Amino acid sequence: MSNLVADIEETAAAHPDATAIGFQGQEFTYEQFWARAGQFAQALADAGVEPGDRVGLYLPNLPQYVTAFVGTLRAGAIVVPMNPQYKSREISHLLSDSGAKAVVGLADLVPQVKEVQDDTDVHTVVSVGGDADGATEFGAFLADDTLATVDREDDDVAVQPYTSGTTGQPKGVLLTHHNLAFDARASAEIHDGIDPDDKFLGVLPLFHIYGMTITMISTLFEGGSYWPLPAWDAEEALGLIESEGITHVHGVPAMFNDVVNTPGAEEYHLSSVEFANSGGSSLPIEVMQRFEEMFDVELFEGYGLTETSPVTHANRPGDRRPGSIGKTLPGMEAMIVDHEFRKLDPVPKGPVDDETELDDVVGELVINGPNVMQGYYGLPEANEEAFTEADGKRWFHTGDLGYHDEDGFFYVVDREKHMIVTGGYNVYPREVEELLFEHPDIADAAVVGIPDDRRGETVKAFVVPTPDAEATPEDIKQYCLTNLAEYKHPREVEFVEELPRTTTGKVQKFELRGE
Ligand code: AMP
Repeated sequence: MSNLVADIEETAAAHPDATAIGFQGQEFTYEQFWARAGQFAQALADAGVEPGDRVGLYLPNLPQYVTAFVGTLRAGAIVVPMNPQYKSREISHLLSDSGAKAVVGLADLVPQVKEVQDDTDVHTVVSVGGDADGATEFGAFLADDTLATVDREDDDVAVQPYTSGTTGQPKGVLLTHHNLAFDARASAEIHDGIDPDDKFLGVLPLFHIYGMTITMISTLFEGGSYWPLPAWDAEEALGLIESEGITHVHGVPAMFNDVVNTPGAEEYHLSSVEFANSGGSSLPIEVMQRFEEMFDVELFEGYGLTETSPVTHANRPGDRRPGSIGKTLPGMEAMIVDHEFRKLDPVPKGPVDDETELDDVVGELVINGPNVMQGYYGLPEANEEAFTEADGKRWFHTGDLGYHDEDGFFYVVDREKHMIVTGGYNVYPREVEELLFEHPDIADAAVVGIPDDRRGETVKAFVVPTPDAEATPEDIKQYCLTNLAEYKHPREVEFVEELPRTTTGKVQKFELRGE
């Protein structure tokens, strides 16, 4: 068992002079960072924030995010990460649902907190990067003293991120100290751990679980340094990797795709990189191969969800398969079960070759392990639906469809809700998307099902052509027809300038479907 703050405290004491955070030419040591987090914790306590209270962080990736995150935990409070792209309507739900007492927000975002504050229990607002009406500036907020870390049990909730799910309002996910500590350690161990010389690129947003656990918490656990970038920019990220000698790069597929399509990207030297990983949505094999050829760096793929802190599966050095999400993390279990019935009936193993139809081996991925959330906050019905108990185990239903092979590799084909049923056939958009990515004139692509009177649904592809593309939508249709069973080919192909994506790189397919 492990407690996040106790473990970070140990690291800070062991490596006081090592760099904890590097940002725009400045470096903060573990000693400095730990002291500031303590001053922040004391300030929260002075402001009336008690252990178990929620504190919203409404910031892009900045050193103050890390300080406020660890400071909140040191005060025994619970972090509620908030996407800085959210508008007041969206944060209003997060703040009232969580009952947050304090918010740390970028100065420019504070007015949006003020707009909804009266409808919430928020009594303290702290601004970062300048003054803002009705808020105390971060530096002025810090107390002179350092709060002694409030004891928390391993099973106490540490963070409550919100995940959108499919319908309705975002749900608060209850993750304990142990959930996060287990996941941060287990996912670092599969690539030989982290040491004080390691430098992590901090480009994944910290409000999202992938950035939070894998780039920030894992680093702080082991004494490595964290290099935040507040906004995604391919050249800036490449420049930082080269100039600082970044060793660990984590990103979403859309970022890697951006990198390989950035003119002149191959001029950057990424020889310092020891480990590069993609997660958050499926990494097209084509993008992986282009990245590896351009930079001579292996690009691994992992998989996870907010509800599982996040990583459950990963490819690892010397043990990987392109197109696969890898093997289950040590200490966890995963099964592929019949998704039609939401029971735990196992589906036969793959592999998928010319003899097997995807349909015969695809089922829902379910997970059991120490990183699985306690549940959704205050939503008994959603919890009922999310878990199935059997033989003393609690299986979490991911809502993702996939299959696994005899060697223990898992493959995710799509979200259950993205599967297209056309004329009685199931089409998994991922299969069509992989083919589209192989076309030289295609820079990005997404496939959805759209309503069709005859077939129920029909396959439609949205395609971002490369700048010098010559192919027409009709050519793309023909290309798919030549390479796929007739029922899988997109009957409609639309060229677009870009695809609607979330900040964490997921294509917003409901938008493409016009919902
Ligand atoms: P989130 O809770 O935002 O982390 O989203 C979790 C979802 O992201 C999963 O349920 C999957 O649908 C998707 N996802 C994450 N990693 C992968 C991956 N490597 N391949 C395919 N889908 C992924």
